[in-house]
Amino acid sequence: MSFSDLGLNPKLLQAVEEVGYTTPTPIQEQAIPYVLMGRDVMGVAQTGTGKTASFTLPMIEMLSSGRARARMPRSLILTPTRELAHQISENFESYGKYSKLTKALLIGGTSFAEQTKLLERGVDVLIATPGRLLDLFERGKIMLIDTKLLVIDEADRMLDMGFIPDVEKIVSLLPPLRQTLFFSATMAPEIKKLSDKFLSNPKAISVSKPASTAENVQQTIIKIDGGAKEKREALRQIMVGEGDIQSAILFCNRKKDVDILNKSLSAHGYSAAALHGDMAQSSRSETLQEFKDGKVKLLCCSDVAARGLDIPAVSHVFNFDVPINPEDYVHRIGRTGRAGRDGKAFTIATIEDYKALKNVLSTIHTNVPVVSLEGFESWSDEEAASLKGRRRRRPTKPTSTVKPEAKEAKPRGRRKKTETSPAETTVEANTPEPSTSPVSIQDEKRTERKAPRSSAPQPRRKARPSAVIGEREPSSEPSNPTSSFGDHTPAFILREAKVA
Ligand code: AMP
Repeated sequence: MSFSDLGLNPKLLQAVEEVGYTTPTPIQEQAIPYVLMGRDVMGVAQTGTGKTASFTLPMIEMLSSGRARARMPRSLILTPTRELAHQISENFESYGKYSKLTKALLIGGTSFAEQTKLLERGVDVLIATPGRLLDLFERGKIMLIDTKLLVIDEADRMLDMGFIPDVEKIVSLLPPLRQTLFFSATMAPEIKKLSDKFLSNPKAISVSKPASTAENVQQTIIKIDGGAKEKREALRQIMVGEGDIQSAILFCNRKKDVDILNKSLSAHGYSAAALHGDMAQSSRSETLQEFKDGKVKLLCCSDVAARGLDIPAVSHVFNFDVPINPEDYVHRIGRTGRAGRDGKAFTIATIEDYKALKNVLSTIHTNVPVVSLEGFESWSDEEAASLKGRRRRRPTKPTSTVKPEAKEAKPRGRRKKTETSPAETTVEANTPEPSTSPVSIQDEKRTERKAPRSSAPQPRRKARPSAVIGEREPSSEPSNPTSSFGDHTPAFILREAKVA
């Protein structure tokens, strides 16, 4: 099937061609004809499936006739985050370049005056986050009685973020006779309830996860023992093993840890920046643009800030923290391997993450290699299970401030043979030599001033030639039959381990 089979007008087809798309994705193929028919649609699809174009393209087609009246938008797209709103707006710009549609973006962090001015002129498409829209409605700046086309994007995320009461309020302000397109990555019972409430005789469309998540992204989970400092050190070691990374997203579970990681990486001479919800919209947009332009190579993010980010060239995702919500793992790794490219996703897991890691592994139904990292102690499932809520023997230092670290943890060397579980085997070792000099973050700041900002600063330790560490020669076959490494075993990996 081609785009011309979908019933779109020639101007729109030309714009699509200029964007470079040749074939509709499954969600586009299935949704566009029904949207054009005026049917409600319930689409279960994640980002990366092309779902945005599945509603923006037919919307442009349908809205190209008719005109908007002052303060009465003709269509409304509700999104959970500002970034997603921007991306949808960019979609309208690219696909709508030959259609004279007017649009406005109502998102927090931008000036009310400007938004009000646009609304007063009349807009065909209003893209909004729920809070800001209600704010403007309550100020009498907007009327929704002429909004006959509604899109609710990423409904599952709206639910996670507590936006559903706002969404319900907004829907109650719209005309009952309208067309509603509802998209969600999952179909949890709460989402089903909402869709039943908002939609009328919808066409249900479900597309599987983007192929990129399963096929293009090489995933690895790395078990290390220790706290935030050891994790930062492990991260740097992994990055050194990966070579000169041009574009990576690093996830932390908490905003304050996003800042800490960013500061630490910057202090180590990496080209890094932070992106999270506490930042002013202008600096979020600026940071995102710098990352898109390649001026910043490592973007430290919270889940909310990264939701729906569409940057095709991200080669790596690093989960500095294992996400608490296993669905976030899927969203996170979906930031790489986009648009047919290959991607890699590394997740650093400490013993504290045992439960979260188990949840992730049981959610994704994929065999992800779980390995140890050379020079770092690992942990076993038995140890984790015996914790029973007690803190680990080596507690994590509080991470709320970036204090000079008296001593950067020395990699602890190999585990004694007697500690090695029979299930763990040597896979390969071709790892740079561990640092011998303790480096504090303060020390690292001094380094930063001297070192050029690069995504891959010189390792502070000499590369060790490929060597066999452990009991056996590295095998050409992965020793764990469930491992999906094949020929792709990362160079830094010492042992495979198992998580039950
Ligand atoms: P989305 O799921 O809407 O976030 O889209 C994911 C990515 O797929 C974006 O980079 C889009 O630009 C891209 N895309 C959307 N539709 C197509 C298509 N038909 N062919 C190729 N790429 C597409």
